[in-house]
Amino acid sequence: MTQLPAGVWVSAEENIAALRGGDVSARDLVDAHLARCEDDRWGAFLALDEERARARADEIDAMDDKPPLAGMPVAIKDALSTRDLVTTCGSRILEGFRPLYTATCVDRLERAGAIVLGKTNMDEFAMGSSTENSAYQVTRNPWDTDRVPGGSSGGSAAAVAAFQAPWSLGSDTGGSIRQPAALCGIVGMKPTYGAISRYGLIAFASSLDQVGPFSRTVRDGALLLSHMVGRDPLDATSLDWPEPVKVPDAERMDGVRVGVVRELMGEGIEPGVRSAVEVALGHVESLGGSVVEISMPSFEHGLACYYLIAPAECSANLARFDGIRYGQRAEEAETLLDHYELTRGRFFGPEVKRRIMLGTFALASGYYDAYYVRAQKVRTLIGRDFTRAFEGVDLVASPTSPSVAFRLGERTADPLSMYLADVCTIPVSLAGLPAISIPCGLSEGLPVGLQLAAPAFRENGLLDAAHALEQAIGFVPRPPGMV
Ligand code: GLN
Repeated sequence: MTQLPAGVWVSAEENIAALRGGDVSARDLVDAHLARCEDDRWGAFLALDEERARARADEIDAMDDKPPLAGMPVAIKDALSTRDLVTTCGSRILEGFRPLYTATCVDRLERAGAIVLGKTNMDEFAMGSSTENSAYQVTRNPWDTDRVPGGSSGGSAAAVAAFQAPWSLGSDTGGSIRQPAALCGIVGMKPTYGAISRYGLIAFASSLDQVGPFSRTVRDGALLLSHMVGRDPLDATSLDWPEPVKVPDAERMDGVRVGVVRELMGEGIEPGVRSAVEVALGHVESLGGSVVEISMPSFEHGLACYYLIAPAECSANLARFDGIRYGQRAEEAETLLDHYELTRGRFFGPEVKRRIMLGTFALASGYYDAYYVRAQKVRTLIGRDFTRAFEGVDLVASPTSPSVAFRLGERTADPLSMYLADVCTIPVSLAGLPAISIPCGLSEGLPVGLQLAAPAFRENGLLDAAHALEQAIGFVPRPPGMV
C-alpha cells in the first residue's frame, strides 16, 4: 500500500502533484485503488479492469513526457461505452456486451493519461434514483450500508465516497449525478447541455443526458471536467466551449447574487435538509455575496413534464435493443415478432418497461398533443423561469435532494415516491443548465447537498462560487469508519 501523502485518502490534485514529483508511481496508485476495490461492502463496481489498468500504469511510468492526468485512476459509469470492456448499462439485455469503441469523454481522459479502473453500478438504463433498479446488484451508501447511494449513478458516487476511486464519471438526465453526490457526501456536477460529447453514452433521453464528474473537492471536479468539454464531430449536439474550464481558486464571492428558490425550501423538503442548506447559504454574505429569495412558479410542473419527455425519448432510444444488434436474445423465438417480444419481455426490467410504455403512450397519435406537446411547452416555461431569475441573480440555489439517503427497499414499491427524489434537480435538466451539488453538512448523521445552478456556459463562475463556499463551509465529509 502506498504511503501518504499520496494514495487513496487524498484528493486527485494531491495525487497528481505526488505523481509529478515522483513521490508515487502510477502503478502504486493503481494498485492502491484496486486493493481498496477488493473490499466489496458497497457493491460500487460491476467490473474491474485490473490487468489493463496495471499494464497502462506501467506504460505511463515508463514515459518521459507525461500527459497532464498521467496515472490517475478513474471509475466509469457503466452507461459509457468502453472498447472491449463489458458495458451493460445496468441491464440484462446488454449482459456480456463488449463495445467496439470508447465514449469520447472516456477517450479524452485516457489520452490525458487517466486510467480506467472499472465500470460502476447504476440503475438500468439510468432510470432511477437509488441504483436499486440495477439488474445485477445493490449498491450501498458508504455512510450507512442499509441506505441507498442515490441514483442512477450510485456506483460512481459510492466508489468516490468510499475512497475506491479519486474521481469518477456519471451521467445526469434528471439528477443522476447531483442527487447521488448529495446522498454520498461528495461533489457532483452536470455541465451545460452540449458541454461534453454524448458519443458512446448509451442514450436514455437525448435532449437531457449529460456526462459529468464526481469528486471529493470542487477543484478536482473542475479539473476532470476541463479534460472532457468541447465539440466532438461525432455528437452533433456537442458544442465548442467559449473559454477553457479553469480550476477554481476564488476565496470570496464579492458581488455574487444567489437566489434561493422558495418553492424548493418549503413543504416536501426534510427540515434537517432545509436547515443545513440555510446554514451553508449563511456563508454567502460573509464571503461578500448576497442571498435573496426567488420564485420559480413553473417548477411545480417539473416532475410531470420530465416524466413525459424522458419516457417519450427513451421509448424511441430503446427501440434499438431488439435482440439482434446487441447483447442478449431469446433464442427460442419462431417469428420476428416473437423474437422482439420475448427478448424485450425477458431482458428489460420493470422500470424500463414502465418508461417505454409511458413514453409510447405519450407519443401515440391522439395523445401526442395532450401530453408530449404540452410537456414541451411546460419545458419552455421552466426555461423562462430561469431566464427571468438570472436577470436578478447570478446563481440559483436549493437543496439537491429533498431528503437524506433513504433506506434500501423503502421506495421500490412506489415509483412516484422514487420520482420525487429528483424534484430539485429536474428543472435544471429541463433548462439544459449547468449545476453542481456540494456537501454542506449533515442531517441525522447523513450528508446533505447544496445545489447551485448557473446560466449556460457559466461553469467557471459556478465553480468559483462552489469552491469559495466549500472552503467557507469547511465540512470535510468522511463516512464513519474512514480516515
Ligand atoms: N431519477 C430520474 C429518472 O429516473 C433521473 C435519472 C437520471 O438522471 N438518469 O429518470
